[in-house]
Amino acid sequence: MGQNITVTGMVLQVMPIGEYDKRITLLTKERGKITAFARGARRPNSQLLAATNPFSFGEFELFEGRSAYTLARASIQNYFRELAADYQATYYGFYFLEFADYYCQENNDERDMLKLLYQSLRALESPAYDNRLVRLIFELKALAVNGEAPNVFSCLKCGGREELHWFSVKRGGAFCAECRGEISDAIQLTESTMYTMQYVISAKVEKLYTFTVSEQVLGELQRVMESYLEHYVAHTFKSLKILVEIASLK
Ligand SMILES: [Zn+2]
Repeated sequence: MGQNITVTGMVLQVMPIGEYDKRITLLTKERGKITAFARGARRPNSQLLAATNPFSFGEFELFEGRSAYTLARASIQNYFRELAADYQATYYGFYFLEFADYYCQENNDERDMLKLLYQSLRALESPAYDNRLVRLIFELKALAVNGEAPNVFSCLKCGGREELHWFSVKRGGAFCAECRGEISDAIQLTESTMYTMQYVISAKVEKLYTFTVSEQVLGELQRVMESYLEHYVAHTFKSLKILVEIASLK
């Protein structure tokens, strides 16, 4: 027999099913990424209508059947409605959701990813942060949460911690001025950029969105992250393609 469970999480993805139903993908604290059926959730008077939209964060009461979860009730704490008011921020948000969907698994401990997602959406809503920087922080921290971050704390060749001004995407980390000679794809980075990467990788998620950077640092981070993701993630995110198109229109 099935039972009801309550999980805390966020709606990552929504699929219409049949005439009135939805299938939602949830990232939860308790069970990692799961999918659940929301019967009647597309009826205009359904209690579940708004709760089953992307970004909705709160408590979800699920009936756990033999092979699937069914959503019974939801109590939403944050709909991230301010995101919806800004077209471009919304697409950054969709990209973060798609990224988390791609990386997370069922019955895996995804609490850090859920926290990262929540804090990053908050940062997108805040006028204090440049969304381009929010994206770079999210991407780098998501890799770190999954144990795939580059090594930027010491030179990959000699282990030294001084003058780490070079970065190799192929080798996955930093090189000092003395060792960079033989690295064909070395990108030169300022100390501030290297420090920013070190900070993002090592800081607690709650402390991530506490700084801004210069245009130069932003440009260097963009260059590094773009080729790093291309090299290691090798996945085309649909929402990212749309985001790039929107950004180029500006
Ligand atoms: Zn070295």
